[in-house]
Amino acid sequence: MERDADVIIVGAGLAGLACALRVQRSGLRPLLVEAADRVGGRVATDVVDGFLLDRGFQVLQTWYPAARRLLDYEALELKPFYPGALVRIGSGFQRVSDIWRRPHRLPEMLVSPVGTLGDKLRLLALRRRALRGDLQALYARPEQSAPALLRELGFSETIQARFFRPFFAGVFFEPELAVSSRAFEFVFRAFALGDTALPERGMEQIPRQLSGRLAPDTLILNSPVAALLDDGVELADGGRLRASATAIATDDASAAQLLGREAPPARGTTCFYFAAPEAPFPGPELVLNGTGAGAVNSLLCPSNLSDHYAPDGQALICVNRFGADGDLDALEPELRAQLRDWYGAQVDDWRRLAVYQLPRALPVQTAGVSAPPGPTRLDARTWLCGELAAPASIHWALAYGDDTGAAIAMELRAAGTDRPPLAPTALP
Ligand SMILES: Cc1cc2nc3c(=O)[nH]c(=O)nc-3n(C[C@H](O)[C@H](O)[C@H](O)COP(=O)(O)OP(=O)(O)OC[C@H]3O[C@@H](n4cnc5c(N)ncnc54)[C@H](O)[C@@H]3O)c2cc1C
Repeated sequence: MERDADVIIVGAGLAGLACALRVQRSGLRPLLVEAADRVGGRVATDVVDGFLLDRGFQVLQTWYPAARRLLDYEALELKPFYPGALVRIGSGFQRVSDIWRRPHRLPEMLVSPVGTLGDKLRLLALRRRALRGDLQALYARPEQSAPALLRELGFSETIQARFFRPFFAGVFFEPELAVSSRAFEFVFRAFALGDTALPERGMEQIPRQLSGRLAPDTLILNSPVAALLDDGVELADGGRLRASATAIATDDASAAQLLGREAPPARGTTCFYFAAPEAPFPGPELVLNGTGAGAVNSLLCPSNLSDHYAPDGQALICVNRFGADGDLDALEPELRAQLRDWYGAQVDDWRRLAVYQLPRALPVQTAGVSAPPGPTRLDARTWLCGELAAPASIHWALAYGDDTGAAIAMELRAAGTDRPPLAPTALP
């Protein structure tokens, strides 16, 4: 039977791109089928009035082992954030620094009101713990909630409220930081061991770099897959594509739908973009709300990191809050009132450019977070990569996509030999 490809990969986010490239490198023919009009999935950048707007605030952590392996960092021209943050406490901003990467900030850190002296010493213990062992070992540790781990390590409520909650809750879109200690330690390790950066021309440069390596005719856009078939997939328009194997590399809700399962719960975020005559501060810092009050979680000025994010003579401001609900016209005055308190009347000159409400930004990562021991095979010809089978992050999307591509290629190459196929894997 004539086939359209050796492997059909459903979804051209980072997981699907990594999977397709690995299949291609193995000398087989991948076909990447994407519902949207572009690659990248949740890693996307829009151009509005000459500003680059990432669809929701996200960053690349340069430590990610799979990103280091699969991406060309030099070509992305990464612009790093300050290693730490500016935290709004009371009526001022306090600088929190990663003193391993900014040792000269140690005296300032020791007296910072962000936590007690004991808390600063406990950061040493947390760092040692989070960096110990490989990733499989990290994800095999006894799991508890991140706040329970922080309490067990002796951190005060002050540093949890002023630093851990605003910083890490913003990573997981979980206001109370109610996430698995494993997910927390993974992210802590990423912040400790590498830069947190934006590509000079927006986050979408990451998937674009990967798709630029695909052979011609390997990618079909605007083509949602409606069903999995015994010999391929059926598209929403009724078309059929055939291949020897299929990898589902969609977001978790779409994967669940294709497999007839219920969508897992998710966390949302809302990201406001404003154009301003000038930035409220000059540096590449992330600003956190450590007051415990108000709608703002974090704020940054992407144009302070890269000129490409805003037209000449203007600045781009990105303000984030938890959740993706609420009436934007009611929310905006609330955000502005809080920011006026922080930055004064200049806030009145900020012009709203766009708002992204992302109800399914990330899966809930409360408990049962584990790293897959290997690619997930659902049956003789169907494989699963992406967040239904692996933890959420750019690292895992790339790593798991790549590993799944390698496993499928190995399997197809071995077809015709006497080697028994890999057994199906149970989904978590
Ligand atoms: C606002 C935000 C901030 C984030 N911040 C970070 C961060 O700072 N660091 C980090 O590591 N991670 C972050 N993440 C998570 C990270 O972006 C994701 O984990 C990663 O991009 C997931 O990639 P993926 O390929 O698995 O899924 P996706 O990016 O969701 O891609 C899935 C693709 O499948 C397509 N698709 C779905 N259904 C079908 C279908 N039926 N047929 C065909 N195609 C289909 C979709 O259109 C999409 O293109 C963030 C995510 C968001 C939204």
